[in-house]
Amino acid sequence: MSEVPPKPPLIYWFRNDLRLSDAPALAHAAQLAQRHGQPLLPVFCHAPPELTCWGFERVGVHRQRTLRATLSDLTVRLRGKGSDLLELQGSPATLLPTLCHALGATHIVCEAIAAPDEQAEVAALRSAGLQVHTVWQSSLLEPAQLPFAVGDLPDVFTAFRQKVEKAALAPPAPLPEPTALPPPAPLDTPQWQQFYKQNQAQSRAQQAQAAINIKAPEARSSFPYHTPEFAGGEGAALAHLRRYLAAKLPHSYKATRNQLSGTGFSSKFSPWLASGALSARSIYAELKAFEAEHGANEGSYWLWFELLWRDYFRLLHLKYGARLYHARGLLGTLAPAPAADAPTLQRWCQGDTGRPLLDAAMRELRLTGYLSNRLRQVVASFWVHELQGDWRAGAAWFESQLVDYDVYSNTGNWLYLAGLGTDPRGGRHFDVAKQTREHDPDGRYQRLWLGSSQAQ
Ligand SMILES: Cc1cc2nc3c(=O)[nH]c(=O)nc-3n(C[C@H](O)[C@H](O)[C@H](O)COP(=O)(O)OP(=O)(O)OC[C@H]3O[C@@H](n4cnc5c(N)ncnc54)[C@H](O)[C@@H]3O)c2cc1C
Repeated sequence: MSEVPPKPPLIYWFRNDLRLSDAPALAHAAQLAQRHGQPLLPVFCHAPPELTCWGFERVGVHRQRTLRATLSDLTVRLRGKGSDLLELQGSPATLLPTLCHALGATHIVCEAIAAPDEQAEVAALRSAGLQVHTVWQSSLLEPAQLPFAVGDLPDVFTAFRQKVEKAALAPPAPLPEPTALPPPAPLDTPQWQQFYKQNQAQSRAQQAQAAINIKAPEARSSFPYHTPEFAGGEGAALAHLRRYLAAKLPHSYKATRNQLSGTGFSSKFSPWLASGALSARSIYAELKAFEAEHGANEGSYWLWFELLWRDYFRLLHLKYGARLYHARGLLGTLAPAPAADAPTLQRWCQGDTGRPLLDAAMRELRLTGYLSNRLRQVVASFWVHELQGDWRAGAAWFESQLVDYDVYSNTGNWLYLAGLGTDPRGGRHFDVAKQTREHDPDGRYQRLWLGSSQAQ
């Protein structure tokens, strides 16, 4: 009797969704694999180091380090479900077709990301002849739940929020973690072994390079990712969420959220939301349970309000797509591009503008990968309104440095501040002297990052 050859695997491509709980795309892939009796192979691609056109690394040292911890956590979790994670070196657009070829695979499932570079990756896989099924999963609200078509999304956030609240929309309940996942593919063909050997040689070279870039842990950080409370992926994220609620911090959130420094003034959910180690729907469900037990107030409401901003910038991408990425944003290609030069950009990035609050903030960002929302607004406003810089250069520096870089929130906030998105007030110009008086009146924050000599 002849043996039936094993079926080729279905590939699950992890992107910004490094978790097992509330993971609709992964659940869909597991169902498909089970239905067709296929193995399921979860893969993560480490894109090669890349310099942006502004001359700095796309993924800086802070995100490299937090990603490492998140992937280790994911691997342990997948193994606990009878699966595993295959980490490969290379850009997904070229690597995944080679991988599929080596394994005889034809289908990939992944999350949908509605931003141009990420959409181009999927388009490249499709052009290589692969079937790619994408699943939208990163927002609180499902686009199909909205009381309007995405193309009719209001151009003003408040109008969007009011429509959502008037319709009493609530996000779908988060999906539970799967009890088990289909086994990963047996990786034993000679073609596969050759592919893997070459890929791992590349991996060793990249790891050696990354080791050179490692900086010392920064104890002053508001998101100290080197400490046990802030290190790790999904497990650490869920533990952090529970600690945040147990300390009843939602009740004081609105009063403290504009502070500049510290671990508790804001939720610090963003790095885990950005890597996908935590889903917004899981936060929402836990927040509602918290309110049921301890009462709702303006503070707990405001967390929902900010998470709605996060949704809004996602929906804005669904509505406008690549149009958001012009030098003059939604004003279009004909408006003149801004004019700041490379040395000015360098001074802004390095915190060498001579304005103490700004320099302190840019130093914090560079040394820790985190910055409060208030200071993100102040430094971004300074770059676009006072230094006349291209918002895309500022956004690229944030992309390089932030531990919580998220394409939608970063682009959306930069455009909003620059007055090139949908803000009805045509941009937000922050007066640095006024911000210093209001938010750092005794100079404590400036001294923390500049020492006493340069603080105002
Ligand atoms: C120029 C600029 C760039 C930014 N880039 C990013 C980015 O790349 N990634 C990112 O996650 N956030 C970004 N933000 C938004 C915001 O600053 C961060 O989400 C927030 O500071 C993260 O800290 P937290 O989790 O403690 O926030 P909290 O104040 O505790 O807020 C809770 C959650 O609400 C969401 N949220 C809060 N404020 C905003 C906002 N303005 N826009 C969208 N979502 C929001 C976040 O998911 C956040 O985790 C940017 C803001 C500005 C002004």
